[in-house]
Amino acid sequence: MDEVTGEVMGEVMVKAEQVWKSFGQLEVLKGIDLEVRNGEVVCVIGPSGSGKSTFLRCLNHLEKINAGRLWVNGQLMGYRQRGDKLHELREKEVAAQRRDIGMVFQRFNLFPHMTALENVVEAPIRVKRQAKASAMERGRELLTRVGLGDRCDSYPSQLSGGQQQRVAIARALAMEPKLMLFDEPTSALDPELVGEVLGVMRELALDGMTMVVVTHEMGFAREVADRVVFMDGGVVVEEGPPSQVIGDPKHERTRAFLSRVL
Ligand code: ADP
Ligand code: MG
Repeated sequence: MDEVTGEVMGEVMVKAEQVWKSFGQLEVLKGIDLEVRNGEVVCVIGPSGSGKSTFLRCLNHLEKINAGRLWVNGQLMGYRQRGDKLHELREKEVAAQRRDIGMVFQRFNLFPHMTALENVVEAPIRVKRQAKASAMERGRELLTRVGLGDRCDSYPSQLSGGQQQRVAIARALAMEPKLMLFDEPTSALDPELVGEVLGVMRELALDGMTMVVVTHEMGFAREVADRVVFMDGGVVVEEGPPSQVIGDPKHERTRAFLSRVL
């Protein structure tokens, strides 16, 4: 039985167990339970202020949780277990855990004084100590993969929002993450640029990347997500395949939300 459990845990990329997070008096996450399996694409939907970004930020150590447990890629985030005691990890060890997680934000956050290629190779060279030549070669491949092979030498200000966001995706991929987190990656884009970014994300999903995507793009969620999670008021209200959660929601709160965004 243990063996079976072990095998199942090995297939789980993210496990959140009763995750609570507050900012001062404001309770934002109120016991999130969620699992993401290897290779799975999970879309998180829900009203503004429901805690979606906070949850993603907790997954990536950008916020510290107040209670509960988070595992990513088999590691308990922020802690090491010795016997039955938990010890907080040092900053360096936390940084090592974060290295396996790529994150793409609503705003593109590229370094403005660096070209697309320099943005992509910065972390592999500085953090992973990759040799410059091989990092550059790999960076060009990644930019080609997101359709920007001919824009390696462009600065962010010379690129459209959609192109900048694709550079941001390539930059995250350059660290060879095991998990990719997307926080409303198309919300800041002009409508005509949304498709090119979703297209890159769809390709990534088809390649088997494990992804958690906070999005209001219901078409994308329906088509690409293996599972949709509806969050409201700091809890997971309902989850399931897109056809069920978006197509035939069980909860009134989900229905009310969908009627506003669809
Ligand atoms: P969502 O992404 O679903 O819109 P957020 O996770 O961004 O929701 O925010 C949930 C709530 O937490 C909001 O009320 C927001 O104002 C609050 N919040 C988020 N980050 C902070 C912070 N650093 N300090 C104080 N309050 C915050
Ligand atoms: Mg948000």
